[in-house]
Amino acid sequence: HKVEVMSSDPSESNPYSRLMALKALGVVKNYERVRDFSVALVGIGGVGVSVVEMLTRCGVGKIIIYDYDTIELANMNKMFYRPEQAGWNKTMACRHYCSELNPDTTIEVHNMDITAKENTAKFKESISTGSLDRKEKVSLLIGCVDNLEARELMERFSDEMQLPFMDAVVADDAMSGHVQLIIPGRTGGLEAAPIKTHMEKRAGICPASLPTTDSIIAGLCAQNAIKFLLGFGEVFFLMSYNAITNEFATRMTYPDPRKSSSPPADGY
Ligand code: ATP
Repeated sequence: HKVEVMSSDPSESNPYSRLMALKALGVVKNYERVRDFSVALVGIGGVGVSVVEMLTRCGVGKIIIYDYDTIELANMNKMFYRPEQAGWNKTMACRHYCSELNPDTTIEVHNMDITAKENTAKFKESISTGSLDRKEKVSLLIGCVDNLEARELMERFSDEMQLPFMDAVVADDAMSGHVQLIIPGRTGGLEAAPIKTHMEKRAGICPASLPTTDSIIAGLCAQNAIKFLLGFGEVFFLMSYNAITNEFATRMTYPDPRKSSSPPADGY
């Protein structure tokens, strides 16, 4: 009587061995380093929640999440959240799910609006002491929000702290989006993007959203973050995607010579 075993190779039951294969295949020199990085991410809506999930599955050491919103049934056209979670804080639902996915990733959550006066200092402080040993800043700040105010605040803190900032946005019509990596002093600042604004929401104009476009933008963002952190392949500084024409376009951005910004960060 023969018992059929699905797989006797221990490497096939260990997800880390699939990540380490990138090292064995010469794609990246030292994949284990992924565990040393800490990433701060603001906005866990349609894009951000998938970025958190991907970075967790990739084994990033620590992810610090910020959002103030609660889950609504109207969010079910996006990825991740489920109807029975309606009314929960997004941060709570995200932490619950991701810490089960990978116990090696520390998930820290802050249920806050980063632009609210009473929160900005706490937001900045948590980023500047966000490394795994709490002695340094995080390695990367990622923004996946739907408004210019929060994006501009992140850009300001990125500049003040000489902290790389990756901004991922999807347009109001859900048909385009872009991801930009800003390295203070080395690249250009925030590019204009056709994004959702709170004003439009107040005026009753409901922005469109699709889980497909959100996930494509999230994938580009998480991919670029992993490449940037581990230093492999070509990291992009601005990539835009158009769902109507199927175009992906990449280009460099340059600092504004009229702005005498802070000196370039070392090491990038
Ligand atoms: P929709 O706008 O389609 O109804 P949404 O509010 O979830 O859905 P998304 O674009 O999918 O919008 O996600 C953006 C996320 O960013 C939201 O979860 C929102 O709460 C969060 N966000 C926006 N501004 C801030 C801020 N200042 N501080 C913290 N989180 C923010």
